[in-house]
Amino acid sequence: MSDDSITREYPGQELVVEWRQGLCAHSGNCVRANPRVFNPRRSPWIQTDQASDDEIREAVGRCPSGALRIR
Ligand code: SF4
Repeated sequence: MSDDSITREYPGQELVVEWRQGLCAHSGNCVRANPRVFNPRRSPWIQTDQASDDEIREAVGRCPSGALRIR
């Protein structure tokens, strides 16, 4: 089974952040864009209650690999 098939979901106010582990390039763009929401040293590492949906969308838009998506 490929890691691409592992998708974790993090519900926000009116959106859901999806993260595909196998696609993550660990570039850290999301962490730099919004370290309150994206913090790999914490569990869960994505916490959607730390920012508005607009801020989350902005950070997800900086993911270069497609690992992060909004649904
Ligand atoms: S921006 Fe995308 S590829 Fe980079 S660490 Fe975050 S989820 Fe992974």
